[in-house]
Amino acid sequence: MRIVDCLTNAHNLALVALAALICVLGSWITVSLLKRVRSTRTGTRAAWVFLGSVAGGATVWCTHFVAMIAYEPGVQVTYEPGLTGLSLFVAICGCGAALLMASLRFNGSALVGGLVFGLTVAGMHFIGMAAFAVDAVIHWSTPYVVASVIGSVLFGAAAFKAEKLSTTARNSWLAVVLMVLGIVILHFTAMSAMTILPFVPQDGVLTGDDARQAIAIGVAGVGLLVLGAGAASYALDTQSRSQAEIRLQHLIEGGVDGMAVERDGVIVGANSALLKLVGVERPALLGQKLSRWVEDVARLADGDMVQSSLTTAEGEVLPIELAAKRDHASEGEVMIYAVRDLRARQAQERRIAHLARNDSLTGLPNRASFLERLTRQTDTIKPGATLALFALDLNRFKEVNDLYGHAVGDQLLCRISDHLREVLHEGEFIARQGGDEFVAMAEVSSRAEAEAVAKRLRAAIIRPVTIEHADLACGASIGVSLWPEDADNLSTLINNADLAMYRAKASLTQDICFYEADMDQAVRARRRVTQALREAMDNQRFELHYQVQASVQTGKATGYEVLLRWKDEDGRYIPPSDFIPVAEETGLILPIGEWVLRQACKQAAGWAEPHKIAVNLSPVQLGHVDLPRLVQQVLQETGLDATRLELEITETAMISDMERTTHVLRQLKDLGVTIAMDDFGTGYSSLSTLRAFPFDKIKLDRSFMIELDGDLPQSQAIIRAVLTIGESLSIPVLAEGVETAEQLAFLRAQGCNEVQGYLLGRPQPEADALSNGAAVVASLSDAQPAEVRAAA
Ligand code: C2E
Ligand code: CA
Ligand code: CA
Repeated sequence: MRIVDCLTNAHNLALVALAALICVLGSWITVSLLKRVRSTRTGTRAAWVFLGSVAGGATVWCTHFVAMIAYEPGVQVTYEPGLTGLSLFVAICGCGAALLMASLRFNGSALVGGLVFGLTVAGMHFIGMAAFAVDAVIHWSTPYVVASVIGSVLFGAAAFKAEKLSTTARNSWLAVVLMVLGIVILHFTAMSAMTILPFVPQDGVLTGDDARQAIAIGVAGVGLLVLGAGAASYALDTQSRSQAEIRLQHLIEGGVDGMAVERDGVIVGANSALLKLVGVERPALLGQKLSRWVEDVARLADGDMVQSSLTTAEGEVLPIELAAKRDHASEGEVMIYAVRDLRARQAQERRIAHLARNDSLTGLPNRASFLERLTRQTDTIKPGATLALFALDLNRFKEVNDLYGHAVGDQLLCRISDHLREVLHEGEFIARQGGDEFVAMAEVSSRAEAEAVAKRLRAAIIRPVTIEHADLACGASIGVSLWPEDADNLSTLINNADLAMYRAKASLTQDICFYEADMDQAVRARRRVTQALREAMDNQRFELHYQVQASVQTGKATGYEVLLRWKDEDGRYIPPSDFIPVAEETGLILPIGEWVLRQACKQAAGWAEPHKIAVNLSPVQLGHVDLPRLVQQVLQETGLDATRLELEITETAMISDMERTTHVLRQLKDLGVTIAMDDFGTGYSSLSTLRAFPFDKIKLDRSFMIELDGDLPQSQAIIRAVLTIGESLSIPVLAEGVETAEQLAFLRAQGCNEVQGYLLGRPQPEADALSNGAAVVASLSDAQPAEVRAAA
């Protein structure tokens, strides 16, 4: 009642309202400046403390002074200027001390600051009152005084604490209210504590209501100006700060990586990349700690970068790279965090690692990982145990590729790989070696078990599959070698499995073969031959022999067949039947055949007599070389007349690709070269071959001569038939392998055109063959069947 009575009866309410306005405005500005002081760590803090202390001091002092002027105690009022000035000084200094305390970093700093503030308000009030009470005797009520000081201190501390707990300037209204209450409560409680006993009134300087009010408004005006200056600088600073923040937000928004800005440990900015990564909206992130989602944030210093993890709003844990950077340009503890999602990079790394170890088409392990595994397995194998190595090769895969195209071939490989993977048992391993070759390994206890594994793998390979409406099935050739039985090192082990596989490929009856030392000797021998052939090419160990061909009618030499000879290091001749097939398999026949052609033409071009030469062509040459061009070039080079060159080809060359071969043969024939069909009668469709191309000569295979000796009526009939065909197609027939006079007599009787064979002459070096050729006439006329000679 005393306080209410004091306020309503002893005060000019209009001026009280003015004091209240100053108090509210000033408190709001002081709280804002307090917030600014606390968030500032740099040199500008002193400036903010100064501004805060002036604003706070002005608030407290002006509120007091205007309220005092509003006070109408019923006596003449005067003010002692010294003490009045001191009260202002105390207000400003006390506020400065309070702000400084509150901004220090220790526990309870806000409470201590608030306490200082409360004491300042009280101190200022009582000093001000001392200046006031010059012309009267003032009686103070101790309980009221104590209560006023306690209230001031409590509210001051509460205001400062509330300010600290509020996160932004906007929600610090509670602090403003508490501060206002602190000031107001102190003022009016302290005023109630006082009873004034007037002396005889004196003539004061400041008397009269009008003057008092003018002073009150003046003081309030100055106070408001001070506060306005504080508020303006605060607003300007806030604006430039928020602009800096907008700029920063703008900058981080452009980043592909997630970015967050933390000020004093809470997020004040984040880009949409981070929001997306975490899976929350911006408001859910702002004001929080980044460490709530991202691990390791707390232990990161300026410039650090670590691999860490992020837990999304949905609880998913993502691998990330986290970098921290301190923003030295900003005031306060501003950290910028960059959060990079590592999922894509890790997936890429896994993919590269996978590619390095796996076949890209089928996804099976590749040769490299197979070798690694094989090394490990053979190293760690238990004594007495056996490791079986399987070399798998698809049969007829090339056919699928040729017939249906590579895309289908690839699909087939993938399907077969899937099948293989499916049938694999625990501990077994399969890899794609390349092309249509696979390798597998399995630990087995016996040969029979290894065979069972091989059968299982075979079944997986030959299982028919349907791709693009085509039913496809490949065969399998599987070679098996056993560790440690079949080899003492890994490369031999692999090699031996391969050898066994080649044998399976060549076999008509077996498609699973185990490595056996002796059987695979043949394959080794073949490899040796290949190597030796290469060396023979390089060292010019080839020679040409010539075998005479003669007319049955005239007995004269008509030409010479060119036959290749290989002289080994000991000077022995290796027969062509031993090396031509190998040369054909390895493709070495191409350079060898070219050499034969060139060499034969060169030699024949130098002969005195223009005899023909007959050069054998391999089917491989027909298939792989632009023969018409080569022949033309060689003829040009050597100057041999085209009509003197005859090319012998066998039926096998024709049937593999009839259309292309006949086309090539026609081009050759256009050059003026003649074409002979070699080994006629040994193929299975000789007649259709004859129909396909107009051959210039038929060479009757020498097997018929051998059979002729057996006096079989059938062979006589066949020879007669062939001669008749030749006659009706007007193609001359040459009989090969004529060794006896009887054979010659029969052929002559049947109207055979030409003969070739040991009877007339063996294949011989150039010079011998030519001189022998000249003597053929004699030998032919001499040759009489045995019975004729006997009769003579
Ligand atoms: P071919 O073309 O049928 O050659 C005839 C073969 O029969 C030659 O064997 C020849 O020595 C042999 N011969 C000739 N007259 C008689 C005879 O009265 N009795 C017997 N038993 N054999 C006779 P050679 O020289 O061993 O050649 C074997 C095969 O090697 C040739 O069979 C031919 O297919 C191939 N050949 C030889 N030289 C070349 C060549 O330069 N290029 C190609 N691609 N193949 C060649
Ligand atoms: Ca021949
Ligand atoms: Ca022949």
